[in-house]
Amino acid sequence: MITKQKGTYDIYGDLAKKRMYVNDVLNALCEKYNFGYIETPVFEASELFHRGVGETTDMVQKETYDFVDRGERNITLRPEGTAGVVRWFVENKLYGNLTDPVKVYYNMKMYRYERPQSGRNREFTQWGFEVFGSDTCEADAEVISLAYNAYRLLGLEDVKIQLNSLGDTESRNNYREALVKYFEPHINELCEDCQERFKKNPLRILDCKVDAGSEILANAPKTIDYLNEESKKRFERLQELLDLMDIPYDVNTKLVRGLDYYNHTVFEVTLRDSYALGGGGRYNGLVETLGGPSVPGVGFAMGYDRTILAMEEENVNIPINNSVDVYLLAVSDSEKETACYLAQNLRLNGFIVETDLMNKSLKAQFKSVDRFDAKYLIVLNDEDLQKNEVVLKDNKTKEEERVNINDLVDYIDMHM
Ligand code: AMP
Repeated sequence: MITKQKGTYDIYGDLAKKRMYVNDVLNALCEKYNFGYIETPVFEASELFHRGVGETTDMVQKETYDFVDRGERNITLRPEGTAGVVRWFVENKLYGNLTDPVKVYYNMKMYRYERPQSGRNREFTQWGFEVFGSDTCEADAEVISLAYNAYRLLGLEDVKIQLNSLGDTESRNNYREALVKYFEPHINELCEDCQERFKKNPLRILDCKVDAGSEILANAPKTIDYLNEESKKRFERLQELLDLMDIPYDVNTKLVRGLDYYNHTVFEVTLRDSYALGGGGRYNGLVETLGGPSVPGVGFAMGYDRTILAMEEENVNIPINNSVDVYLLAVSDSEKETACYLAQNLRLNGFIVETDLMNKSLKAQFKSVDRFDAKYLIVLNDEDLQKNEVVLKDNKTKEEERVNINDLVDYIDMHM
């Protein structure tokens, strides 16, 4: 027997229904924000992620699925959504004549070679969105509000934004310098990876999973102390906007996010002040890094796994329908023909219909009625059919009603 790969899983049954529900809620919300849907390819040139996500990130160094294809190309399975969406934006030259921002959302499978654990898999789905062309605080606020409202609409009440600012390039550089100065005397006390990070991108040290919790990291300089006046003002303005929208947040100066491309706003959405459900931020340099002109961007991504786990933990009522509206019981050929015809008619009119496909006895079909938790059942029989009638039975009250076949749709519609 061949089994599924580590860190992957099949989606079916109730889990499939829960995910479809989450999907529907999120997609409808994105439409309210007037975002367009986008899907990018599962595989892209490896260079896209090396440049876009950053060579020094754990994601690129340890987690990507890389392979050489039959045409000798270096290919990577998409580990996150932003780089591919930016590639699309640049490749299609959507930066020309930007009178309004380009706003897109996605719902895509991602691949990371991580150690699987609860809410962390090697193949997983992220819902995310990006806004290109606006450098305003209002754009940041719109993105944060969309992320926040998504969780609220899914029934998670205790969510909060963890908010930080890395500032503009000048502020970020000043901060970087301060970090180098601070870490230099301690560098041998940090893990091997951090020693590498120190040389290439010291901000990454703050993200280290190995050294998290160490005194050295805890006492490191804080981003917001290095913001220049403009960046500081911007950060304050964003907080004012969030206050106006009644979006709860904590300023969390330790938050730097795992990817290289962020500046100014970075944020995560947490449940009960700890559990990170999703994250995002502003990436004004990324479009340029990937070959376009300088166009600002801001975005967010959440994982389905953790969101659904959180909904289960919080006992959110996820509406799952496991019952059918009508079960048509039929034994003879002519009854089966009528079942076919009625099923077609009822389904086209929006009802969930089951009928016997296994040549079962009438008794066995009655058992299926209960297994499918049918609201109504119709025992087709040739005698009624000659009169163009059926007997519709309410499976709960057991009440029966004789209905003309032509009136069946209207009758069920009125009584459901
Ligand atoms: P990131 O792209 O790393 O900022 O992650 C954004 C969100 O995607 C996280 O908060 C998780 O909800 C989700 N996520 C990231 N990695 C995984 C994974 N390996 N398995 C499942 N969900 C993930």
